[in-house]
Amino acid sequence: MPKIALLSPEVSRKIAAGEVIERPFSVVKELVENSLDAGASSVRVELAAGGKGVIRVRDDGCGMSREDALLAFERHSTSKIREEADLERIATMGFRGEALASIGAVSRLTLRTSEGGEGGVEIEREGDRLAAVRDAGLPRGTTVEVRDLFFNLPARLKFLKSDSSELSQSAKWLTSIACAFFEVAFSLSHGPRQLFSWPGVRTLKERLYQVYGKDLVDRLMEADYAEGGSRVFGFASRPPSGRADKSQQFFYVNRRPVKDRIMQAALNQAFRPLLEKNQCAEAFLFLEHPLGEVDVNVHPAKSEVRFRDSQAVFRVVQRSIDKAVLDEGTVKVVPFGQPPETASPRAAVEDARPGQLIGDPYARPLAGRGPAPAAGERPGVSQPGGVRVLGQYLAMYIVASSEDGIFVIDQHNAHEKVLFEKYKEIGRDKLWPRKLALIPILFDLPPSDVLSLEENRDLLAASGFRVEEAGGRTYALKEYPDILRDEEAQNIFLSLLAEIKREKLDGRQDKLLATLACKTAVKAGEPLSRPQMEHLVEELFRLPRPGLCPHGRPVLLRMDRGQIDKSLRRPSN
Ligand code: ADP
Ligand code: MG
Repeated sequence: MPKIALLSPEVSRKIAAGEVIERPFSVVKELVENSLDAGASSVRVELAAGGKGVIRVRDDGCGMSREDALLAFERHSTSKIREEADLERIATMGFRGEALASIGAVSRLTLRTSEGGEGGVEIEREGDRLAAVRDAGLPRGTTVEVRDLFFNLPARLKFLKSDSSELSQSAKWLTSIACAFFEVAFSLSHGPRQLFSWPGVRTLKERLYQVYGKDLVDRLMEADYAEGGSRVFGFASRPPSGRADKSQQFFYVNRRPVKDRIMQAALNQAFRPLLEKNQCAEAFLFLEHPLGEVDVNVHPAKSEVRFRDSQAVFRVVQRSIDKAVLDEGTVKVVPFGQPPETASPRAAVEDARPGQLIGDPYARPLAGRGPAPAAGERPGVSQPGGVRVLGQYLAMYIVASSEDGIFVIDQHNAHEKVLFEKYKEIGRDKLWPRKLALIPILFDLPPSDVLSLEENRDLLAASGFRVEEAGGRTYALKEYPDILRDEEAQNIFLSLLAEIKREKLDGRQDKLLATLACKTAVKAGEPLSRPQMEHLVEELFRLPRPGLCPHGRPVLLRMDRGQIDKSLRRPSN
């Protein structure tokens, strides 16, 4: 065993910095939090090369004296807490006193700050070194400019992504913090291009309007509910509207954007009976919770919290939705299996003849919501290849048999697999049959989605989606794959975009098609009629490797005849 040695201060500072500062977005987050803690009414963020080149954050907050500005770069220097007991009641965004020290350790940094009047100071740092300190006449406020992030930490530099991907993380986070601090003006520029500029407003609703546009605000209901010292307020989907994924669920605890499983579970549970099976709520929910009841010091980037009484939190969130729904008074519960109100002619054909291909190779017969399984349906008929459907189990699995054994087939995975193969076939010929939207489908996109849309326009076009700008952040979906119904085109498009943004796609069309297949496949929980099941099983067993779905999950379980005989001690014939 080698001898233990203490790390040099320089190395240990870099290690500590790495915990807090992972990428340009972490710098943006820490600097903007400082501006908000300083009481700024305007925060301007300017980035170059996605933040890898330059990150500049300007505020008009309280500023710092020369003495404080020099101290601010020491580790654990903070004006926000003084003693251990303060950790129990943190009301500021920052409190660890390590952000500036950490950023300073891994970049070239200039700080300009003034408390107003004539004074002001400009400090330049390079890595751990103080390079210059000068007096400067500046207006009240602080500007921090960070250049060449990780110039002295090449290992970290290698893990940074493309400019637009780094930029979109910052844009996304700024969007979420801007919703919490709606009274503050926020702007973001990338090089010469301004991505947004939102003046301060008086209400959350006005901010949502600025950020996401009228469409979103129109489909939300307001929530406000208090119980036992906590309060939940904000906005959530007005049932039955929702969206196909959970990418638009934002939670805040005492104004801090957090990822929180408790709040998310409470929201989704409250919405379960209110939305269709494959729909999720959109939400911007703010929890005001007693400072002593929540620990914000559990995560280096402060993006997670811990509650002393998580059941109480679950309850107040869930009840806030229940109450909002009651207040709305116009709940329409949509039972699954019910045909969409505006069924297209195409859907009508599919409904009439479930399980039939009606002459085109990319039909989605199962999603046509055929007749609900009726009692007394004819017993399973023989399938080509000798696979016979015995029935459906738990509205999730199809049980089938053949001479060789018994199959338990996951209906969603199986349909996804079948569709994926079809979509690929179409994709290969580069001829996605498209449908022209007669009335263009208009929607508003948040800035981070605008970026991923622009970046992936070709990929989306190759998969049959054509989108045009319609002014500002409004976009028009002009064409979409023919397999999609009008009512679902927008939702599916938005969830593809969300998927692209999560960077699982790496610009590869087959991954996009896999997602499309997943979104358009029949869901677990949908009762299927026998002809629908037979059709699906037939299609599935026609494929060369029916056992694996495009996402790599197994499609079916198989119990061999021999195995069954052996287990039941019956001699095989
Ligand atoms: P923390 O925010 O956890 O206190 P930081 O390293 O982020 O630690 O900042 C150290 C201190 O520098 C803060 O406590 C604050 O007093 C001061 N400071 C940092 N940024 C600003 C700013 N934009 N305006 C005014 N003061 C600031
Ligand atoms: Mg801070």
